[in-house]
Amino acid sequence: MKTRFAPSPTGLLHIGGIRTALFSWLYAKHNKGEFVLRIEDTDRERSTDEAVRVILDGMAWLGLDHDEGPFYQTQRFDRYKEVINQLLEAGHAYRCTCSKERVDKIRDEAMSQGKKPRYDGHCRALNVSEDDSNNNFVIRFKTPTDGQIIVDDAVQGKVIFENSELDDLIIARSDGTPTYNLTVVVDDMDMEITDVIRGDDHLNNTPRQINILKALGAQIPNYAHIPMILGPDGKKLSKRDGAASVLQYRDDGYLPEALLNYLVRLGWSKDDQEIFSIDEMISEFDIKDVNKSASSINPDKLLWLNQHYLKNSDNALLVKPLADLFKAMELTTDARPDLEDVIDVQKHRTETLKDMAEQSMLFYQDFDEYAEKAAKKHLRPVVLEPLKVLYESLENIQDWTNENIKAAIEEIAEKFEIKMGKLAQPLRVAVTGTGISPSIDDTLRLLGQDKSLLRLRKGIAFIENRSTS
Ligand code: GLU
Repeated sequence: MKTRFAPSPTGLLHIGGIRTALFSWLYAKHNKGEFVLRIEDTDRERSTDEAVRVILDGMAWLGLDHDEGPFYQTQRFDRYKEVINQLLEAGHAYRCTCSKERVDKIRDEAMSQGKKPRYDGHCRALNVSEDDSNNNFVIRFKTPTDGQIIVDDAVQGKVIFENSELDDLIIARSDGTPTYNLTVVVDDMDMEITDVIRGDDHLNNTPRQINILKALGAQIPNYAHIPMILGPDGKKLSKRDGAASVLQYRDDGYLPEALLNYLVRLGWSKDDQEIFSIDEMISEFDIKDVNKSASSINPDKLLWLNQHYLKNSDNALLVKPLADLFKAMELTTDARPDLEDVIDVQKHRTETLKDMAEQSMLFYQDFDEYAEKAAKKHLRPVVLEPLKVLYESLENIQDWTNENIKAAIEEIAEKFEIKMGKLAQPLRVAVTGTGISPSIDDTLRLLGQDKSLLRLRKGIAFIENRSTS
């Protein structure tokens, strides 16, 4: 049993493609089969190195490992040529010297009569040899003129195509390069793919591919054509909604487990279960249970899942991706606090790693100015005296723990007969520059004693300046 994922690197791999990859991968794993990665890069003009990189990095980031490949179609042109010649020799294909003008004319006429445009088979019986062809020909596949192709699709059900509706498709262009339907067929045959899982935009290619496979005497794989993913509004997925590179999700701080869990539920379900570990997905997933209708993405749900996985992640496993995000923000985190300590606190109060990085910058980077509103509201002369006394008390702490920090703040608040919050919030603004941070004891502990005192000193000076000016 073998499945494959066969993206074309003509656009950046997005979540629609990744879901196709995930379904193929899961189905292979579920059946203890193999998973092949194949890059369909024959369209040289539109394929880019960046798109290939996004495929490889994206799959690796998500842990969708392949057992074979990556194969590149551009490295298999000799093989395609061989098969094309084989089809020619066996009489399953023929050279067509019809001019472009002629083919266009037939098409235009059909369209104006409201018919499906199709080649009329003019050269089919002519047996044009290479010498007769003036070296200006395409090669067409001889599609059977009658009979049906029945696709027993695992998702779409039985789909019937009449051969009489299909024309003789081009399998080699005039420059000799093979076309999409030919390369897919040769690869699926050579790579011994047993199950083809792909987007339903390829359903119409399937009868053509089956006809070629039959002509080659190859095994016909099982097919499953899965529906598209739509935007939250039910319309075509836009770049903003997820049609951009899958790596954008990594850079936005999503966890691979969360994205996979989210994608597996787009079009597939098991009872009301929402959370699936990778192992559960593998044991429960069956391609036959995939929904036939398109599903819309739901960014809030992805965020919810991400928070779930963030909360339940092993701190150590989050260090590297968090450090990468800090690096992207050009921030070094070699100094204290330990990233693991920061993660332990922040993972309960942020939704993404990016959120976490942004809300944790304060531990590594000094700020020049206070958030205006927060300073206005909290760094006021009334707290000058309490903050000064608190400073001394914090300075005297021997063991910089949450308990000792908290006790010091409570003691001073009591002494000045103010509520704990009335002291903690000015303290927070003084040491973070803003009104938002983890609990005050966590914040100070993570900052460390020296940095906390230094920043508090600055805050006190700020209030003093303010009261004299
Ligand atoms: N390369 C095709 C695509 O990216 C997929 C072909 C296939 O899966 O058969 O749409």
